[in-house]
Amino acid sequence: MNDIPRHLQTGSPLLDLCDPQLASRFDNSFVRELPADPLRQDFPRPVRNACFSHVRPAAVAAPELLAWADSVGELLGIARPQSVTGPVVDVLGGNLVLPGMQPYAARYGGHQFGNWAGQLGDGRAMTLMEMISPDGQRRELQLKGAGRTPYSRRADGRAVLRSSVREFLCSEAMHYLGVPTTRALSLVGTGEPVERDMFYDGNAEDEPGAIVCRVAPSFVRFGSFEILTSNDELDELKRLADYVITTHYPELGTPSPEVYARWFDEICRRTAIMVAEWMRVGFVHGVMNTDNMSILGLTIDYGPYGWLEGYDLGWTPNTTDAQGRRYCYGRQPEIAQWNLLRLAGALSPLIPDRADLEAAINTYGRVYGECSRRIMGDKLGLLDITEDDDALVEDLIEALHVAETDMTLFFRHLADVPVDPATNSLLYAPLRPAFYADDADAGAHLSAWLRRYAERVHRDGEAPGMRRARMNRVNPKYVARNYLAQLAIDALTMGDRSVLNRLLSVLEHPYDEQPEHEDLALRRPEWARHKAGCSALSCSS
Ligand code: AMP
Ligand code: MG
Repeated sequence: MNDIPRHLQTGSPLLDLCDPQLASRFDNSFVRELPADPLRQDFPRPVRNACFSHVRPAAVAAPELLAWADSVGELLGIARPQSVTGPVVDVLGGNLVLPGMQPYAARYGGHQFGNWAGQLGDGRAMTLMEMISPDGQRRELQLKGAGRTPYSRRADGRAVLRSSVREFLCSEAMHYLGVPTTRALSLVGTGEPVERDMFYDGNAEDEPGAIVCRVAPSFVRFGSFEILTSNDELDELKRLADYVITTHYPELGTPSPEVYARWFDEICRRTAIMVAEWMRVGFVHGVMNTDNMSILGLTIDYGPYGWLEGYDLGWTPNTTDAQGRRYCYGRQPEIAQWNLLRLAGALSPLIPDRADLEAAINTYGRVYGECSRRIMGDKLGLLDITEDDDALVEDLIEALHVAETDMTLFFRHLADVPVDPATNSLLYAPLRPAFYADDADAGAHLSAWLRRYAERVHRDGEAPGMRRARMNRVNPKYVARNYLAQLAIDALTMGDRSVLNRLLSVLEHPYDEQPEHEDLALRRPEWARHKAGCSALSCSS
């Protein structure tokens, strides 16, 4: 420990982002090791034979810190800024680039809604630098909404406050739920309007702009590989694969055909776990295009996501997807596999044996199947779930569809259902807060299911308190419901940060009882059912 400089040790004092000592931890491996676009201009264009373009954030009128995630700051060893304006906020708002930072926009392509879209790339995201955190982990700091890049196509490179709040809040909430995700350090208001046509109905309006600083070991996507293979840039493909393996999967060893195969298998495994975790907490990503799929198995690019309120496998929060429902809750496992098949195609020049690719895709199916069964067992509080319980699970899903039942509240309160066969008549009562509508048929259906459930749990013979505690560790009480995020956005628009700060601090303990915050654990109020942003929303951001 003594050999490590003090400022690099875990537990050492946090440094100001602008402190020159911090720059000794910057280590821009992506820029150093991968081929760059030789042009340094930001006009939109197809970029060839490169993994990224050098860019500069475009300055904004009046950057002001709106929110800060202390735990992410601590992870990075960066101190919360002393005030809401000043040099640190200038950096996080894109007005100041520090020595040692090498801002870039990554090049990638993607399949959008099932179709190859060609080059996409970071049209408004810019990585400032990578740094080695005090825990020894490499992390990248990326501004979203910092201006135009060669990948902006016809768009403005900016982000609105509402979508930035949603990304900041939800990525942190997901982390605390235990779901693999990118994180967020800061939310900065730009003091500049951004024009958006929120309903895509020709009525564009000015909205406040904002910039999130996102944090992850890497933001490389499936689409980062797809663009290279689709353009027959096979040298670049190998370089990017070798870079990702040596930097982010070092445990796999020196890249070779065999290592590429094991790497893809590991990507499949991680993706399976990520999607199983989404299904556990009722998260619907909303835009599972291959450009929004992380090569590290993290949830990335929070846009028109949502949380399942009424349990409905066909529900999508994305109004742009309302017709096809490609990205609805129940199809997420299948779509992730479809995306992995696109990645398999992109990696096939490196993994010539089809059998290896097929084996990895099978790994996805197997790991997803195992995880999802175990997760359902945990959610139901069963000690040892087996195939014999499949009918019980299927029947529950059917029962939950009969009347609109809040997923989060149902599973949370299921822990309170008495499973002693003597108290049969009371089974239903603890679940009442989960129902959006009273429906006698649904009641009968669910009561029948609850009797079978109670018998099954009773057979486990576990003390009720133990079962309840186990269930409460996997069934969250607090999730970042869209209407709650919208209330935080509305308050912030009026200059009130307290709603967002309170929500963030409650979502940092999603499995705990927090009696003073009971109002944040209720089902969605009826006024929010059809209000823009409160249930469903468009891609406009
Ligand atoms: P998304 O749907 O947010 O994943 O974005 C898809 C593609 O559109 C990515 O290449 C983004 O960088 C790009 N994009 C989205 N919004 C903007 C914007 N306001 N300015 C520039 N590019 C954007
Ligand atoms: Mg995206």
